[in-house]
Amino acid sequence: MSDKMVTIFVDGHATVVDPSRNLLEACAQAGVNVPTLCYLKDVSANASCGVCVVEVEGARSLVRSCVGRVSEGMKIATSSPRVLRARKNAVELLLANHPTDCLVCARNGSCELQSTAEKLGVRKVRFPRTRKPATIDESTDGIVRDNDKCILCGRCVAVCSEVQTVSAIQLAGRGIRTHVATFMDRGLGTSPCVQCGQCSVVCPTGAITERDETEAVWKALAQSGRTTIVQTAPAIRASLGEALGMKPGSLVTGKMVAALRRLGFDRVFDTQFAADLTIMEEGNELIRRLTQGGKLPMITSCSPGWINFIETFYPALLGHLSTCKSPQQMFGAVAKSYYAEKAGLAPESISVASIMPCTAKKHEARRPEMRGAFEYWRAKGATKPGESYYDVDWALTTRELARMVKRAGIDIESLPEEDFDDPLGRSTGAATIFGTTGGVMEAALRTVYEVVTGKALPSLDFEAVRGLEGIKKAEVDLNGTIVRVAVAHTLKNARIILDEIAAGASPYHFIEVMTCPGGCIGGGGQPVLIDLEKRLARNKAMYVEDLRLGMRKSHENASVQALYADFLGEPLGHLSHELLHTEYAPREV
Ligand code: SF4
Ligand code: SF4
Ligand code: SF4
Repeated sequence: MSDKMVTIFVDGHATVVDPSRNLLEACAQAGVNVPTLCYLKDVSANASCGVCVVEVEGARSLVRSCVGRVSEGMKIATSSPRVLRARKNAVELLLANHPTDCLVCARNGSCELQSTAEKLGVRKVRFPRTRKPATIDESTDGIVRDNDKCILCGRCVAVCSEVQTVSAIQLAGRGIRTHVATFMDRGLGTSPCVQCGQCSVVCPTGAITERDETEAVWKALAQSGRTTIVQTAPAIRASLGEALGMKPGSLVTGKMVAALRRLGFDRVFDTQFAADLTIMEEGNELIRRLTQGGKLPMITSCSPGWINFIETFYPALLGHLSTCKSPQQMFGAVAKSYYAEKAGLAPESISVASIMPCTAKKHEARRPEMRGAFEYWRAKGATKPGESYYDVDWALTTRELARMVKRAGIDIESLPEEDFDDPLGRSTGAATIFGTTGGVMEAALRTVYEVVTGKALPSLDFEAVRGLEGIKKAEVDLNGTIVRVAVAHTLKNARIILDEIAAGASPYHFIEVMTCPGGCIGGGGQPVLIDLEKRLARNKAMYVEDLRLGMRKSHENASVQALYADFLGEPLGHLSHELLHTEYAPREV
């Protein structure tokens, strides 16, 4: 905040504001939400949509408030007839080149263009179409682009280049040919896109969405003789309620379980079980690298957009990644091997759906190496599932699950709280915090500290790795050995950490990287229009759940202990290696 505040007059009302604010933020402070379709705080302010205009006394033209600056004594009119007419014209021009097929659009009900047209009272479009209809880009597993619904706001381009430093998309062409393009317009599938889905979260329309897999899941739920298993990632319990109209940060763990049972899933399990399992494997891998030699710093591997990123941009550093599969994939492999045997189910009769905060999880589930259960059954020479057998059949986003719940007419708020099924539904608070930046690190430290020192931690709360700061650092004393750790979220921050390693200047032993702002709570499959307040609310909910669960250390999860005793043997053992670990390869685009 600047030292010297200024007084402005918004629609005649005096307001004292920080002069570093733009007019849009200053008006919001005065209680007036000026509409915009392109501005995105801290990411994009290119003044392209023309919807946020206001009238400033003394200025000849209307001012685009996202780029206008406040000054002492400024008088601003936010809803004069001239302003309202100009905003309506701007939206009508956008709609002239838009299919307006809202009733069959994935963003119906959560579309900023739709709600802005409604707010501005647009009832007809007086302008002719000037752009040619566009083709749909379905070249990736995670993301679908429909440029016909694009209003050229530039948010996706900004988030991809500024927040993720991937630059898979750009605005190309001129005039009526301007469009969001990939290299040579070959589609995202042949671009460096890591399928993080951040573009889909910031897009104000249905021009970028997740690939919808709900129809396949409905079909499996209706199929007799099939056992449908669902797993839910940690962050979903803090965002599903929001996607269904509850306030941001609402924790709906038990109601979510009840809703999934009402949708018809036979077993409702928890990805958090596999997050605890990940800590057992990853924690022991770290201890082995620290004590027996191995590539350091070791970097976490549970965020699939991050895996795509390092495989694409830093292939020489792949050896730093933990070999652990992500919790989603560990769960799928265990469900279709251990659980199938334990429950007496034929492996080919089981389907596993995941509910994930992430579009990159769809791609991860289709990686050829994610078929641990298939290899397990093949090695046993027992009943063999088909060649197309993946550990996880479908990875739905929070948004897709919310659509299924709505379609089934389920009122989540009125449902009772129900428990996950056993044994793959038992988890600890350490697993819950996987859903937010710093959580995997904190969970790992809770276990590694106690395993290495043999002593109980004086406090389980590692405050230094909490919060939404881009890069966090801490030191932990493990019996006299100081272990230096770092936590980064967004690929821009990951790049800083990787450049340090590449330069031989990294001081760290262990690093957590998550692809999305805030980690999974801000994932590309989460409810759209995420802002800092929503991220903070979801982040807080993760730590509330951590405390609520009581058991807060992964190595104390009795169901995970039983999995090792009855099936896997020991962490990093032969069967763990087969089912729970993977390898990475440079990705050429
Ligand atoms: S993007 Fe928005 S305005 Fe366009 S069809 Fe979809 S819901 Fe309607
Ligand atoms: S999914 Fe991520 S990497 Fe791909 S275009 Fe969108 S923002 Fe860029
Ligand atoms: S695809 Fe969406 S975010 Fe990107 S420019 Fe078009 S409307 Fe904006």
